Amino acid sequence: MSLKLSHLPSKKDIKVVYPRTPSSIDPNNPPWPAFRGYHTYSFAYATMGHRLPTILGKAIDDVILTLNQESEEEHVKDLVECIERMDQLKHDLESHAKLRPIVDDGEADVALWNKEIAKYFQGKDFMNAPWLFAEAYKYRRLRECFSVSKYWKHYDVFFRQKCDTFSRSSDAVFELSTRFAEPFKHKEGMPDVDKVEAERLMFMELTQICLWGNSTDLSLLINMTEEQIKALQSTGGENLAATEKNILGNDMSRLWKVVNDLRANTGGRIDFVLDNAGFELYCDCVYADFLIQSGLAKQVRFHGKRYPWFVSDVTKKDWNWLLNSMVYGHLFPKATDAEMESLRRLGHRWKEYEREGKWVYEQHPFWCTGYTYWDLHSEAPDLFLHLSRSDLVIFKGDLNHRKLTYDCAAPPSTEFDIAIGPMASSAGAPRVCSMRTIKSDVVVGLGPEGDALAEKLDKEEPGWKISGKYAVVLLSDGRPGEKVRFA
Ligand SMILES: [Mg+2]
Repeated sequence: MSLKLSHLPSKKDIKVVYPRTPSSIDPNNPPWPAFRGYHTYSFAYATMGHRLPTILGKAIDDVILTLNQESEEEHVKDLVECIERMDQLKHDLESHAKLRPIVDDGEADVALWNKEIAKYFQGKDFMNAPWLFAEAYKYRRLRECFSVSKYWKHYDVFFRQKCDTFSRSSDAVFELSTRFAEPFKHKEGMPDVDKVEAERLMFMELTQICLWGNSTDLSLLINMTEEQIKALQSTGGENLAATEKNILGNDMSRLWKVVNDLRANTGGRIDFVLDNAGFELYCDCVYADFLIQSGLAKQVRFHGKRYPWFVSDVTKKDWNWLLNSMVYGHLFPKATDAEMESLRRLGHRWKEYEREGKWVYEQHPFWCTGYTYWDLHSEAPDLFLHLSRSDLVIFKGDLNHRKLTYDCAAPPSTEFDIAIGPMASSAGAPRVCSMRTIKSDVVVGLGPEGDALAEKLDKEEPGWKISGKYAVVLLSDGRPGEKVRFA
């Protein structure tokens, strides 16, 4: 029988079935449909077409401010070249240029970036590559503008803005410092059951403070007024009961059980994969402070970025700045002596934790790549092994959530364990908690009725996925204790 071409299925009949099978998943083909910049009306489109050029424009303004205060000719000339590279990047972004390899600037992640571009994104541009990768790539290219310079290798175009959010959050900063400067302890003679209940309530409250501290995200709230920031940051008790209703997927009770069980083994190791500097980091530290004082954790490890990332993400410099500003700074001219003293006490205690090794700050290069955490096991085996030894890994914020879930259009009812793939299913996977105020398209873990709930919100509250009003606190039990294996 001769072959007739008309018997072959026509191209349009070949439908991808979601979720894709594991072997057909790669960075250009997530398990569910990817978000891409060319999807008009999506947040990806708004980000790639408008938000990123705006952020870059503001970054250029910052460098010009620095340039205008520089006097050494060699430094001035070198910085002008940085600005020219930023102009080129802005042009590439706006003209939807193809993604080119990263220049070898001596960073630890160059090979990881260029491998991923060569394998999955040949000929792709800023708009047709998946949004997550394109957006991360932009921040890597911004890094390159400075890392190839002579005098400005470590310049942070976002540093001024990051410092500002903390100084502008004085009400919430002092509300927390005056409350928590005095170390947590129980009233004398309290029965053990009441002690545990008091700790549970404190844990629930601080979990929410840590969660909503994530609302202050500079890359998303670029035009917010001080009043609007204050409203987002209010930390009062009644407010917390009301805001708990906005946690659409809520595993906080399970989270408490996990943490409370750690105490039996004289406290566990808890890791934070950080999101934003300034006020959010401060909230994370207040939470971590309680975990140490209550004996729930004996060590907390914080994971930050090696260089400026998604505007407000924490770098080592931001970490040092926060602790030193709390102890030595003059950021709050209107504060009372008692308020300043409470902030200094907290800062001193946190520095002491660092000296004692109870708090450890780390910065693995993998956190600043375009890979999602589905590839953490294969692309950063050392980091996977390291995290597998943690009792609980808390991922803060929207970008970490996007990376955990492959940033794709999974149905909102998808179970968190399924949505994070190998981070839940690999042997030795740690317990993973995602604490995130919802600020982009991907939403999972809303329970069996989740699809209907999301549909209702789509109708009644357009923009609910980017407002930061809603949140999720999701927990995966992982496969802790099993031997980690690599193929
Ligand atoms: Mg961030």
